[in-house]
Amino acid sequence: MTAKPKIFLRATRRIPGGVNSPVRAWKSVGGVPLFIARGRGSYVFDANGKRYLDFVASWGPLILGHAHPKVVQVVQRQARQGVTFGAPTMLEVELAEAVAAAVPSIEKLRLVSSGTEATMSAIRLARAFTGRSKIIKFDGCYHGHSDGLLVKAGSGIATLSLPESAGVPRSFACETLIAKYNDSQSLQKIFARYKNKVAAVIVEPICGNMGVIKPEPDFLPGLCQITRENGALLIFDEVITGFRVAYGGAQSLYQVRPDLTCLGKILGGGLPLAGFGGRSEIMDLLAPVGPVYQAGTLSGNPLAVAAGLATIKLLSRPAIYEKLEAQGAYLEEGIREILAHSRLEATINRVGSMMTIFFGIQRVSHPDEARNCDRNKFVKFFHAMLDRRIYLPPAPFEAMFISLAHSKSDLVKFLKAFDHWARRSNG
Ligand SMILES: *Cc1c(COP(=O)(O)O)cnc(C)c1O
Repeated sequence: MTAKPKIFLRATRRIPGGVNSPVRAWKSVGGVPLFIARGRGSYVFDANGKRYLDFVASWGPLILGHAHPKVVQVVQRQARQGVTFGAPTMLEVELAEAVAAAVPSIEKLRLVSSGTEATMSAIRLARAFTGRSKIIKFDGCYHGHSDGLLVKAGSGIATLSLPESAGVPRSFACETLIAKYNDSQSLQKIFARYKNKVAAVIVEPICGNMGVIKPEPDFLPGLCQITRENGALLIFDEVITGFRVAYGGAQSLYQVRPDLTCLGKILGGGLPLAGFGGRSEIMDLLAPVGPVYQAGTLSGNPLAVAAGLATIKLLSRPAIYEKLEAQGAYLEEGIREILAHSRLEATINRVGSMMTIFFGIQRVSHPDEARNCDRNKFVKFFHAMLDRRIYLPPAPFEAMFISLAHSKSDLVKFLKAFDHWARRSNG
């Protein structure tokens, strides 16, 4: 490993691990994280002015690319008029209307500042609506870092839930039950065992935090049916997939209607903004109308709402998602062709403009299979791409994102770099 640059040492002295979110520390790939000075379109520039083709997109929000002129313009204009008031604004109304038009299951929307808050609040609401306390999540899905959602499956799935982080009491983890993604039977078993106790099932409709894993055709409709039969709510965590895989999110792509939906990432156009919404009868349990307390000093912050609204408006033509699909398909086909001609074993999972290459494995349709991928090969891939000035998510179980700023020649650049490395890589 090369000597740590001064800036990283300085960071570690005053910030735990030098970062404000752990995956930024490159623990999975080794080395020292890039400190980013600026971004433009599909590129980021590090503190030394080196330019990298970016497929991280700030972990999803930047579907328009970095520093999109329209987003910059509205943020500047809003900043001149005041950055926060702690009072309702017209912009929030416009955003709630735009979201309802895009995602019909969201009759009413409450804005918060992070995806973590959105899922945490949606679950509180589901518990109040049903009068029940247990929730079910799927092994491999990530829903932010609130206590009840940092839970993993113990040895006996559906019987033993364990805290995934120090500091989460066992008694909290007990309220969360763990099912297997793409396995409705595991869900049925939990419902049978915990009759009339489950408030909600929360799921990433397309898994994005175990790398990209697609839902099997019957999985999401099955969730709808099972939750309805058992009087529980279905919560779609569309923090990644909302406005990413389709204007109406994964629920429009797969034609499934959840009771509640969490949005984030793209919703704020790169500023801290998220939200949760659903049917009025559920949403009206929130204070000040109903008894479920939920609040935020900077919730619906005008800068973030302006950026989000501008972003969503720019996405509101079907041609946008056709373009993202075409770009994604081009990259996927290119990668498959390279793999077919190399001795490298790998598979690629993609939905629209989000994708993951899993090494050392032929097929990944469950998180368990993802965990079997060759992490060392990923580390080599990551650093080989970085050497060629291509910046990828620095961990094997993440999605890489294509933005509207990525040109055909950007994608060709990636394919050339990948081809070059794959030829030298002996499986
Ligand atoms: C990123 C993410 C979250 C958490 O959002 P934050 O804004 O990081 O708190 C929740 N759910 C999913 C699916 C995510 O990808």
